[in-house]
Parts: sequence; C-alpha cells; structure tokens
Amino acid sequence: MKIKQKIVLSYLVISLLWVIAGGIGIITTEQVNRNFEQIANQTIPVKNELDILENSINDIVRCTLEYVLLKENSILEPANLSDNVIDNRTDQLAQINRGMIKESREIDKSKHVYLKSIRNYQSLVKSYFPDENNYVEAIQNTSHEVIEKSRQFILASQQQKSRSLIYEQQQEFDRIRKKFDAAIQLATNHEHDELTTRQAKMHSTLQYAVESILGVSLANIILAIILGTLVSFSISKPLQKLQVAAQAIGQGHLGIRANLSTKDELGALARAFDKMAADLQQYIHDLQQEQESRSLLAMALENVGDAIEITDAVGHYIYVNPAFERITGYSQSDVLGQTPAALLRNEQQSTGFYQDMAATVARKNIWHGFYVSKHKDGTLYDQELTLSPIVNEQDQVTHVVAVKRDITDRKRSEVALQKSEERLRLVLQGSNDGFWDWDVATNEVFYSSRWKAMRGFSNDEISSKLQECVDRIHPEDVNLFQQALQAHMERRTDTFSVEYRSRCQDGSYIWILDRGQACWDSAGNCMRMVGSETDITRLKTIEATLREAERRWLNLLDNVQLVVVGIDLVGRVEYVNAFFLELSGYRREEVIGKNWFENFLPQQQQRQTQQYFLDIQAQNLDTYSQNQILTKSGEEKMIAWNNTFLKTPQGEIIGMMSIGADITERQAIERMKDEFISVVSHELRTPLASIQGALSLLMSGLLDLQPDKVNRIIEIASESVDHLVIIISDILELEKLNSDQMRLSKQLCNAAQLMPKVENLIQVNASRVGITVAVTPREIFFAADPDRILQVLTNLLSNAIKFSEPGSTVWLTVELQNAGEDVVFEVKDRGRGIPVDNLDRIFQRFQQVEASDSRQKGGTGLGLAICRSIVEQHGGRIWVESILGKGSSFFFSLPTQIAEDRDQKT
Ligand code: ADP
Repeated sequence: MKIKQKIVLSYLVISLLWVIAGGIGIITTEQVNRNFEQIANQTIPVKNELDILENSINDIVRCTLEYVLLKENSILEPANLSDNVIDNRTDQLAQINRGMIKESREIDKSKHVYLKSIRNYQSLVKSYFPDENNYVEAIQNTSHEVIEKSRQFILASQQQKSRSLIYEQQQEFDRIRKKFDAAIQLATNHEHDELTTRQAKMHSTLQYAVESILGVSLANIILAIILGTLVSFSISKPLQKLQVAAQAIGQGHLGIRANLSTKDELGALARAFDKMAADLQQYIHDLQQEQESRSLLAMALENVGDAIEITDAVGHYIYVNPAFERITGYSQSDVLGQTPAALLRNEQQSTGFYQDMAATVARKNIWHGFYVSKHKDGTLYDQELTLSPIVNEQDQVTHVVAVKRDITDRKRSEVALQKSEERLRLVLQGSNDGFWDWDVATNEVFYSSRWKAMRGFSNDEISSKLQECVDRIHPEDVNLFQQALQAHMERRTDTFSVEYRSRCQDGSYIWILDRGQACWDSAGNCMRMVGSETDITRLKTIEATLREAERRWLNLLDNVQLVVVGIDLVGRVEYVNAFFLELSGYRREEVIGKNWFENFLPQQQQRQTQQYFLDIQAQNLDTYSQNQILTKSGEEKMIAWNNTFLKTPQGEIIGMMSIGADITERQAIERMKDEFISVVSHELRTPLASIQGALSLLMSGLLDLQPDKVNRIIEIASESVDHLVIIISDILELEKLNSDQMRLSKQLCNAAQLMPKVENLIQVNASRVGITVAVTPREIFFAADPDRILQVLTNLLSNAIKFSEPGSTVWLTVELQNAGEDVVFEVKDRGRGIPVDNLDRIFQRFQQVEASDSRQKGGTGLGLAICRSIVEQHGGRIWVESILGKGSSFFFSLPTQIAEDRDQKT
C-alpha cells in the first residue's frame, strides 16, 4: 500500500469514527427529546381531564347545594303569613322554582360533562399508565358516590324531609366530597411521582448519551494516536533501515541490504537500493578478482620454476623473470636491450635449427622443442623451450613469449628410470609371477610376457585391455574379482588381493592369486594400478585335497560309533563327535569350552584321570586307557580310550584327541557270562556229582549183593543223566536264541489252529497228574513262527500243570488288545502262586522260586528265560500276575501285523 493511501485510509477511519460518535450523540438527544415530548403529551391531557372532572363535580355539588337551598327557602315558614307576604312568597317561590329548574338543568349538564370527562380520563390513564387503574377507580367511585349523595340530597329536599335530615345528608355529602378531593389529590400526586421517575430515567439516558459520546471521543483520540504512530512507524522504520543500509554500504559493508518487503514507494526505493548495492558488490568483487588474478599472474611469473622471457618485435628482451636469472645466470639488467641470439646461442645447435625456430614464430605458430643453451658461465645445459608469438589486431607479431625449462635433472632421472625399469624387467623375467600395469584413464593394460605365458599365450596374442583379463575369469569368480577391484579403487582396502580361476588358451583353468596396488590423484580418483599374479593351481589342488581329507575325517568322526573327544592342554573341550553327544545326552554348546575332567567324569575319577593326562603329556606318550564318563542324566558309561596327542609342525603338544569305545554293555555282558558260567557249572556239577557218586558206589562192589539198591542207584544216575541232558539242551537252545543263530520263520498264524495243537501236546501229561486243561481257541490272526509260539505255550502250560494241585484246572485263552494291534495269550492256573519279589526274576536264567523246584518239580529254571527270548524276538512282551497261594496268570503279547504278513504270503 502506498504511503498516501495509508494516510488517507487513517484519515477516513478517524473521520468515520467521529461520524459514528456524532451519530450516537444525535440519536441519543433525539431520543431524550422524544421522551420529553411524550411525557408532556401524556401528562397534559390527563391533567386537563382531571381538572374538567373536578370542575364538573364541583358544579354538581354547587348546583345541588343551591337547589337544596332554594328548596329549603321555599318550604320554610309555611303558615301564618299575610297575603302580601304570601304573594310575595309566591313570587319568591316561583322565582325559586325557576331557579331550581335551572339548577336542576345545570346539575344534569354537569353530570353529563362529568360522565364524559370520567370516560376520557379513564381511557387516557389506561393508555399512558396501564398499571394505574386503582386511582381511576377511586376517583370514579367517589365521584359516583358524590353524584349519588347529591341525588339523595335533592330527593330528601324534594320529599320535604326535615331540616335536620337534610343537614345530615349535607354532612354526608361533604364527607364524600372530601374523599373525592383526596382521591383527586392522590391521583395528582401519583402522576407527579410518575413524571418525576420518568424524568429521572430521561436524565440517566441523557447521562449515558453524554458518557457514550465522551467514550467514543476518547477511543477516537487513542485510535488517532495509534494510527498516527503506526503510519509514521511504517514510514520511518523503512527509512531508518534504508539509512542503516546506506551507511553500512558507505562504510564498505557491501553485503548489507535494506531488505524491505513492503509494496509502497519505500519498498520500491529499498529494492532499487538493494539492487544497486548488489551490482556494486558484484562489480567490486569482479574488480578484486581481476586484481587478484593479475597479481597472481605477476606472482606466477615471478615464482614459476620455468624461465619466462618476453622479447619485442625486433627480438630485444623486455622482460625476464627470476627463474630466467637462475637458469641462465643473466640478471634482468644484463639482458634488457639484448637479444637471445646474442646471449644464448652456441655451436651445439646448427644454424638451421635457429632458422627453423625463427621461421615458425614468424609464421605466427608456436615452436616447441628441446635444445642446448649456454649459461652465463659458458656451460651448456639441456632445455625444453616453447616460443609463443603475440599477434596484434593488424596481424603482426608484436612480442614473443618464451618459456624455458632446465631439463638437465629430468634427463638424469630418465636415465635412472630406464635403469630401474631394466632392473624391474629382469626381476619380472626371473620371477615366475605375471605382471600387469593398468592405466585407468585410458583403460590400457600392460600384461607381462609371463602373464601371457601362464595362460598359454604368446606375446602378441593378447590385447592391451582390461577386458582381456576379466573375460578369462571363471564366471563364478568374476563378481569376486570385480568387488575386490572396486573396493581397492575406492580405497576401502589397503591392497588389491583376490584369488580366481583364469581360462587358458586350451580352455583349462588355472588358479591365480592376483595382488596389486593403486595410485590415486589428489582428488582421490584412481589413476593407475600395478600388480602381479602367481599361479596357485598346485596350492589350490593341495588345499582341496586337504579339505576333502579333513571333510572325510570329520565325516568319519561324526559317523563312527565311537566317542571322539578333543581337549586342549588345560583340559578344555575343543571337539566332540556326534556319537559322544548321542551317548551323553548333551548338546554341543553344552560341552565345547568346558573342562573335560571337571564336567564329564565321575567325581571320584576326576583327579586321577587328570593326573594321568598330565603324566602321559609329560612323557609324550600315546596311550590306551579306560575310565568312566558321566552322561547328562548322571549315568556312568565305561569308555576304553585310545589317546593321541595333537602337535604343531614343530612337535609341540597342543592338545589330545581321544577315541573311545563304549564298553559298558560289553562289560555287563561279560559279567553276566561269568555269572552264568558259574551258575551253569554249579547246575551241571550237581547231577554229575550224583552220577559220579552212583557209579563209584556201583564200582566199589559194596552193593553187589543188594540188587534192589543197585537198581535204585542206577535209577538215580539215569535221572541225573536225563536232567543233565535237559539242562544242556536248554542251555544250548537259549544260547542259540541269544546269539541270533536261530532265525524265526514268521508266517501268518491262526490262534484257533495253534491252541488245539498245544492242548493235544500237553493233554497226556495233564491227564497223568489229573489236571484238566481248558482251551478256548479264537480266530485271531498274527504273524509269528508257529513252532516257537507252540514252544512258549507248551512251556507255560507245563509250568501251570506242574505247579497246580491234582484235580484242578488250567486255562488257555487268547484275545486281541490295543485296537487289534496285539494278540495276547493267557495261561492261568490255581496253583501255588509266585511271591511278588520273584515276578520279574523268574524270567532270568536258572531262576526258580524255590531252590527245591528243580529237584521236586524237575525243572531247570531255563524255561521262562527261553520263553522270554522267543517272545522278545517276535517284538512282544511276557509277564506274570500272581497271588501267592491262589494261582498265577502268565501273559504274552505279540504284534499281529496281519495286513503286512498277509501281503507277504500272497
Ligand atoms: P523250571 O524248569 O524250573 O520250571 P522255569 O523257567 O519254567 O523253570 O520256571 C522258573 C520258576 O518259576 C519255576 O522253578 C517256578 O519256581 C516258577 N514258576 C514257573 N511257572 C510257575 C507257575 N505256573 N506257578 C508257580 N511258580 C511257577
């Protein structure tokens, strides 16, 4: 907004407010006036009507009184009057009568006025003072009363009532009149009060109007001040900013800006000012830069390592820099006015050389080349020279700028470099490694002859591109190569080193170990990379062989049914194989790193075994040992160890690898075998001793004369022989079963066919001792070796018969259990029963409830052991339930496996 617009707007706002204040004043005054008028209009007619009312009442009263008076006069002194007097009185009376008629008319007139007036008054009061009916009613009532009394008064006088009565009436009439006056007074007073209240209200309205006008005026003044301040502020503030910016720029702070965003003239001024300041700043900046570049140029000329000389059109020196003085030995004062030809020429260069130089420059071309120059002291030195002609607008050579570089050192280092390269070449030729040198910018790679030879190429068969190398890399290794290269080029790795397979000319691959080092420029860009390659195919083959050997070895260790444990010198577990974990119940992480002796050996063996480990370590002996280990569940397992020390290539022991077999079972079996042999030998010895005794008795001849006794002894010997035969055949049978020599020939069996067979087999025996055999066959099919099952059933039934009293019954039943998966046979008797603690034991070899059973009942104690072996070989189970003295039930279950076996059979 423009400033003018701002001021005009402020002026308009203030004026508008003044107009509003004036308006409020006028409206309020108008309101007050109207109220005044209204009150005046309201009260005057009421008052008038009241006056009229009062007058009419007064008229009525007055006329009434006068009428009564006249009447009274007419009736007074009625008798004893002379004729004159009477005539006189008659005239008087006629006069009075006329007067009375007149008064009476007057009264009626007044009444009429009264009635009209009271109506007017009533309506006026109702319209102006709607709440004030009581006064009207009071006035109305009392005035009615006045009229009524006046009527009664007249009536009384007409009826010629006594004077005293008239007088009384008059009294009453006066009283009512007073009441009426009082009512009129009250109404007048009330109206007066009402008027006063209204006036007071008007006063307060007027007061409010005055206060409003004052308030609006005050607000107006404040607003005017604020607006004035704002307008002046909006003008002065930007001006101030402009002033500050102008001062700052004046003091050289060119970056300062007024930065006014207003849209008015000041804003435009400020923007123009800011632009001017920016232009000025840019101009000064450009100027400074030019100055800087000039001084830089001058400095460069003064400090540059190369000699710079400027000659004029005729070849005289006009400028030489300090490097010139240093290189040539001539100072500026020596050369000014001289020509290069006079000072520097020498016989080493031919005249043609100089002529060519001069002709090139004359053709306005740059001449660049090497030549031998002469020092002030007369010595010659190698120089690299560039001559640049400066041509004016008329295409004339006005000056020649010569830049010269002393290349004596460079020549020297070039020679040194040549030597070093020669050395490197010899080294590379001598070494078996390939060599490459990659110029990243041109992507040119130098591949050494050995690099090529390693892949079966001759020198010129390989291009000098990086792709030549990349394309030969095995597809599986390309990514690895690229990543390693990239990482080193981006300086993420210190050296480039990668192993990959490279394809040779004949299509075979060789393994390469490629190592290199990059060079970067100051901006960090990789400029060059140099490296060597070693053929590591043989190493890789060995490595693979070793890895495979290790894999096989570990595979073997993990699959072998032997415990393998590796511990370090302090006994910490470093390796355990799968079999150890399976045997011990531990997880690998629960074992690795733990102390072998403290955690996995029974407490009583820990110290001793650890000491043993230290002893054999000290003696450097590989040994065999046995000790128990503790499984996770606390079970002890006996292991027979083969301990081998692990050694470094230098022979230093670093740990021990022990391979052990779990011999717990074997030991138990051996123990059992020992026990068995001792039991068997005892069992065999008993009948043998009896046979031996019988034979020696017979041989002694003592019984020769007693044939009965001889017979009895022979009988005993024969029984012992029988018993011996049974024992031996049972032992052999059991051994056959346990050693798995006897193969089961399983087939589908039907219990309904098997059970009667058993019954037939056992019947004779049972009948002999008076035992009834009750067999309940059922059609149940199962897979088993029928002969073996017959053997089990016969054995169980024989036992049942053997241990039952004569005359009792033994039962053989069968049923399906476990949802038809098992067939269960039961052999029940009512015999002597078996004590609870013998229920398991009797299934072991040579176990009998009573030691005398063998003798009395003729058993060997092997029958149930054979039964168990047969049932278990069928995958079944055998058990007994018994109550001592009441009888026993022997059960055995076999898996039915009907479906499979039926299939097999068909
Ligand atoms: P034995 O040839 O002695 O009978 P077993 O192995 O068949 O050998 O039985 C072992 C022992 O089990 C018997 O000597 C006997 O003490 C007890 N026994 C077996 N069957 C019964 C049974 N039905 N009632 C009571 N005891 C029995």
